[in-house]
Amino acid sequence: MTTRIERHHYDVVVIGAGGAGLRAAIEARLAGKKTAIISKSLFGKAHTVMAEGGAAAAMGNVNSRDNWMVHYRDTMRGGKFLNNFRMAELHAKEAPDRIWELETYGALFDRTKDGKISQRNFGGHEYPRLAHVGDRTGLELIRTLQQKIVSLQQEDKAETGSYDSRIRVFAETTVTELLLDGDKIAGAFGYYRESGEFVLFEAPAIVLATGGVGRSYKVTSNSWEYTGDGHALALRAGSTLINMEFLQFHPTGMVWPPRSRASWSPSRSAATAAC
Ligand SMILES: Cc1cc2nc3c(=O)[nH]c(=O)nc-3n(C[C@H](O)[C@H](O)[C@H](O)COP(=O)(O)OP(=O)(O)OC[C@H]3O[C@@H](n4cnc5c(N)ncnc54)[C@H](O)[C@@H]3O)c2cc1C
Repeated sequence: MTTRIERHHYDVVVIGAGGAGLRAAIEARLAGKKTAIISKSLFGKAHTVMAEGGAAAAMGNVNSRDNWMVHYRDTMRGGKFLNNFRMAELHAKEAPDRIWELETYGALFDRTKDGKISQRNFGGHEYPRLAHVGDRTGLELIRTLQQKIVSLQQEDKAETGSYDSRIRVFAETTVTELLLDGDKIAGAFGYYRESGEFVLFEAPAIVLATGGVGRSYKVTSNSWEYTGDGHALALRAGSTLINMEFLQFHPTGMVWPPRSRASWSPSRSAATAAC
């Protein structure tokens, strides 16, 4: 019996279609790279949808004393100064632009009385700093980024005759292995969950945006997708994992009432492996 493997070639393959993956894919496509987005769930079902509080950005709309330096200090202090300081600096400096960018893509954040983007308090932040859309910020974020991708595909259709010519979404497709050529990344291998058929992506650049590992814990509020696939893929491909002790449990793991307790059991674990 021969095993059929569907093959694709892309400049950039983004594994994960949450906030991180979608934004990375947009950037790759805007840089002229032929880009694939792979998601093991349906497009639009990512942990990002669960984010409620908002996105931290020192816009100074509610308290004019706020600025990127205070945000940077709060971030470093919250991380007990173990953070990658350059990443924290970039985050604090660029966050306001990213919020504005989301509005240019079609998001609509809540407003202050004088029409500015509203910002609210959140743990660890000196000033009100979270841009939000009610309590469904993550949902709006995903909806907006997906809408941006569809609009890029419409541009591509008008120019090339095909929606998928420059950016294509492979939903319900699980990546199980990264491929190397010597010590260089060369692609990814996986399967379509609906048919079980294998698929191989050849690419000189892979972005791992598969989210966290919170589902490995007995009591957790994290989504069923948080099974640390990206960590495992990277580790097996020879990468070093760092700072694995920094894990976000948000908001908390609930133990009562029982119906709110999301706990691990062998049968549910099997379901996780299958989903
Ligand atoms: C209840 C709750 C509230 C939160 N509130 C906030 C908040 O207010 N503000 C805030 O900043 N953060 C908040 N967070 C944290 C925030 O939601 C996450 O940090 C963020 O969404 C992570 O985004 P991501 O793109 O990295 O991952 P995700 O959104 O989880 O996306 C991961 C993607 O990878 C795909 N994937 C995984 N494995 C594979 C594989 N093997 N093959 C193919 N695809 C794969 C998944 O299908 C998915 O598309 C909250 C979290 C929770 C649980």
